[in-house]
Amino acid sequence: MHRHAVDARLRFYPTARAVRSAARAGRLARLSGTGSYRLKEVSLPYALPETRTFIERLAAQYRQTCGRPLVVTSAIRPTAWTPPNGSERSVHPSGMAVDLRKPRGRCLAWLRRTLVSLESTGVIEATEERSPAHFHVAVYPRPYQRYVRGESVRRANGAARSAAGRRVGRGGGGRPAR
Ligand SMILES: [Zn+2]
Repeated sequence: MHRHAVDARLRFYPTARAVRSAARAGRLARLSGTGSYRLKEVSLPYALPETRTFIERLAAQYRQTCGRPLVVTSAIRPTAWTPPNGSERSVHPSGMAVDLRKPRGRCLAWLRRTLVSLESTGVIEATEERSPAHFHVAVYPRPYQRYVRGESVRRANGAARSAAGRRVGRGGGGRPAR
């Protein structure tokens, strides 16, 4: 994951100031919340534009399915914020990742299934974390752009796959999030 961010030549932002300046230049997008998602204790509500598109699309479907907004608990985190003992080589400083609060019941089942499906198309990487319980999702900018445009996504290992996200559709729950 960290390697992917480096391979994609994503910039790792060192400070909140650098993040705000990149947002003014249009390299980062502000997460303002919509009817479909809200931010919870996110001190720096910015992400890569593709990651914002991901959130908006996922949240619209989540809202339809669950009747309540998706909750984003973290977005970009500059490298200066990384705890000194943090062993995780985080991709949050690049703005590609967001954390989502873990819901319960059928909303959890839907979210898990949708993230697994998107991950299988090679456009995101999602992990389920404990303490605090959340989903960490990193969105690969270029593959995700192609996915949104309806083009097939070529995975890093060279295998081309359909961007249709069939696994979710077949499960009968929601349509694939795009
Ligand atoms: Zn995370």
